Amino acid sequence: MGGKTIIIGGGIAGLSCALKLQEANEDFLLITDTLGGRITYSAKDKINYGAYFVMKSYKNAKKLVSQGKLINPLDVCFHNSNDEKFSLLHFHTLKRLPQLLRFFFAMMEFSAHYEKFKKRCLTMSQIEAMDLDPYIRVLYKKTASDFIKEKRFEKVAYDYISKFSYACTGVGSDQINALDFLNVSMGILQPIYNLKFDEKSITERFRDQLVTDTINTIEKEDGMFILGGASGTIYKSEKIVVATPAAITKTLLKKEHIRGACKIYVYHVEAELKKIYTRFSLNLFPSSSEIMLTAKQNDGSYLIYTREKETDLLRVCETYKLITEVSWEKAMYVFGDAFLEQEPEEGIYIAGDHNGLGLEPAAISGIFAANRIINK
Ligand SMILES: Cc1cc2nc3c(=O)[nH]c(=O)nc-3n(C[C@H](O)[C@H](O)[C@H](O)COP(=O)(O)OP(=O)(O)OC[C@H]3O[C@@H](n4cnc5c(N)ncnc54)[C@H](O)[C@@H]3O)c2cc1C
Repeated sequence: MGGKTIIIGGGIAGLSCALKLQEANEDFLLITDTLGGRITYSAKDKINYGAYFVMKSYKNAKKLVSQGKLINPLDVCFHNSNDEKFSLLHFHTLKRLPQLLRFFFAMMEFSAHYEKFKKRCLTMSQIEAMDLDPYIRVLYKKTASDFIKEKRFEKVAYDYISKFSYACTGVGSDQINALDFLNVSMGILQPIYNLKFDEKSITERFRDQLVTDTINTIEKEDGMFILGGASGTIYKSEKIVVATPAAITKTLLKKEHIRGACKIYVYHVEAELKKIYTRFSLNLFPSSSEIMLTAKQNDGSYLIYTREKETDLLRVCETYKLITEVSWEKAMYVFGDAFLEQEPEEGIYIAGDHNGLGLEPAAISGIFAANRIINK
């Protein structure tokens, strides 16, 4: 069984690659064990157990996921402690105006570089695109904390932005690089929406080219890739796109260095929250708290994200009943500055969020692989 190209992995990276190849009438097979990967959307309950939101600027990812409800920035509460908390409309925000302006100018500068960088990454590798823009390369090596200090918006970062970034990534600003931090922080300056993923229509779209299997081995023989599936099927192709999570890509391709992954635990609960957490739909916490966020859902239930398993949810709930629990032991690849090459050898393309967090960078990396295959 096979095709000219085999894509391994049906998350947003693999699906974006498949979509682009399909549009170009290229021959391919998409082999995956789940559809969506870290997008785990329950259409019945309209709940996301993995990736949660899309930004307005997610042009590429939004070819495969759609925008749901707007997340209202005025319905967010930022907690420093039980006694100190504020929303964006609080007097506290006004007090921070000079730092807010410095943050805003830093973001304007970043955004100009980053939009160009993302565009370039559709047709050139991330390394090549970074070589053209040293500003971005420096951000990959620098911690977010150093960037924040340099640009002198520490208090605004502590009170607001780092909490948003912690809620998105599960790590504090001393552990995340400035590029990931600023990429995520773009969500503070533009509308963000709950995401929806229509698994049925995607399955329909790729029906003839979609295979459910787990690839365990990749060998090369006489210029062809031979892939061993857990089902016992052997697949053959001229080119492969490895769009699996970094830890699996590392094993499949025998790579040495990848970035380390953080953990996120998602608890879906019916709950009565403690009174201080009931006024706003979204509560965000500092990275010293194991609980990253609470998010009220349309049906009145809550999602609670934590970075430690078995965190005591009674820290934020008076009472709760667990509906579902999802553990992401390798949620996002955030630690360190290892870089996975996108074209490690002839005929192999690596796609995914290994070098840049989130749905949009992952989608772009999939499109890049497709563009290389169709020679664009
Ligand atoms: C809890 C959580 C919340 C998040 N929230 C957001 C958010 O709000 N916004 C945002 O932009 N990003 C968010 N992210 C990050 C985002 O989900 C990821 O960056 C993105 O989904 C990565 O896509 P991917 O295609 O690279 O990998 P994945 O989505 O992990 O896809 C990999 C695919 O490979 C398949 N696979 C794995 N091994 C094999 C194998 N051996 N053989 C065949 N198939 C295999 C998997 O089944 C999966 O389908 C979140 C992540 C988590 C965990």
